[in-house]
Amino acid sequence: LPIVVLAGRANVGKSTLFNRLLKQSYSMVSSVPGTTRDFHEGIFRYTDSTAITLVDLPGVLEGDYLSELAFEKSKKIIEKSDLIVQVVEARGLTSTDEEIALYLRKFNKPMILVVNKCEGRVDLSDFYSLGIGDIVEISAYHGLNVYQLEDLIFSKITGQKFEEPTPIVFGIFGAPNVGKSSLANAILEEERFIVSDFAGTTREVVAKSFRRLGKSWLLLDSAGIKRRKSYDKELDGLSVSRSISAMKAPMGILVIDASRLVTHQDKRIASLMIERTGASIIFLNKKDLIPHSSLGVVYNNVKSDLKFMDSPLIFGSALTGESVHLVLENLKDLWEKAMTSYNKKDILEAIRKAVSLRPITVENKTLIIRNIRFESKFPLEIDIKSNVRSDLVPKSYLRYLINTVKKDLDMKGINLRMEFKD
Ligand code: GDP
Repeated sequence: LPIVVLAGRANVGKSTLFNRLLKQSYSMVSSVPGTTRDFHEGIFRYTDSTAITLVDLPGVLEGDYLSELAFEKSKKIIEKSDLIVQVVEARGLTSTDEEIALYLRKFNKPMILVVNKCEGRVDLSDFYSLGIGDIVEISAYHGLNVYQLEDLIFSKITGQKFEEPTPIVFGIFGAPNVGKSSLANAILEEERFIVSDFAGTTREVVAKSFRRLGKSWLLLDSAGIKRRKSYDKELDGLSVSRSISAMKAPMGILVIDASRLVTHQDKRIASLMIERTGASIIFLNKKDLIPHSSLGVVYNNVKSDLKFMDSPLIFGSALTGESVHLVLENLKDLWEKAMTSYNKKDILEAIRKAVSLRPITVENKTLIIRNIRFESKFPLEIDIKSNVRSDLVPKSYLRYLINTVKKDLDMKGINLRMEFKD
């Protein structure tokens, strides 16, 4: 892996930045004890296919004037590195910073200067005096601009310009008071400072964007939308997703309150989600309110009340945070499965098999599947061409086909759309 070193004076926020970068990508951190001070390294996963080894060098103490000496232990790793990131503070440069820069520049490696603790406006002109051309202002503590830094590191390492991956769009749906906002907050909790508001294609749409698990995510935020009288409260999220025309279907999280029975309204929302989201999971919330002895019963009841929705079911609590981390992991798995696991040939075969198991006659003709149209993109949509008029195929038969194909190809949780086309 390419090696990127973080260098700088002690207390400029190097380790905060190091932790921030690694936390965002869920990496393992190990300490390598040096003789006097430790340095830390970890794998920073930038995208699914690009990772770097990030090394946090021991901070140089003010007064350690002879940088050569301070870096004695680090010299080998700097020589091996592909990129040096020097961190300084917005407050201003010290002579130690200058000495460090002078020392580091001798290695003739690509460099980035990070000006940390930039919470307000900062005049960068002084910082150019260090002779490092690429300067990024960040606040490691608040997460400001950290993505920009990541993108710059990426482009320096790979020589490519980073292109934001297509985000996984998702929404949180459910009846009032089941804990939708609490769950949204719990998911965003760790991202509190780096979540940014996303302006959608229409002005009413507000969404939160963040990166996690090597993916870019967009949480549709119905709370940020001024409620129109004509919308049911619980359908807000779904109307939001419809108004993002460029993003045809989001993934959906159905929140159910474990402390009460599944209601008619829960089921109605579940059916709407099957129609309008590309894939869905169920978060059975408020587990903390359920006595230990009843957990199994509650889980099974909900599972059976919602068995028409074959989605993964996570039992947890937005309040205590239990199992909240599973939400994005499950969405990611579903998304990747939907994007990579299916092909036209298998689907066509599965449809034909379902038809041969239960043949039907439409206007005196036995239904024959001629071909299908299918592209691996989200949501999964299949157009079927047959020997009969598309509008004459009974809806119940289409449902049978969908369910059979889903079972056959293990599409649990994916809301497959299928349509007969002429
Ligand atoms: P929303 O209307 O679906 O967005 O629901 P809220 O997130 O506003 O939550 C409704 C109420 O349920 C609030 O009083 C929350 O504090 C509470 N709540 C949410 N999640 C949990 C949970 O996991 N456990 C418990 N005990 N209470 C919760």
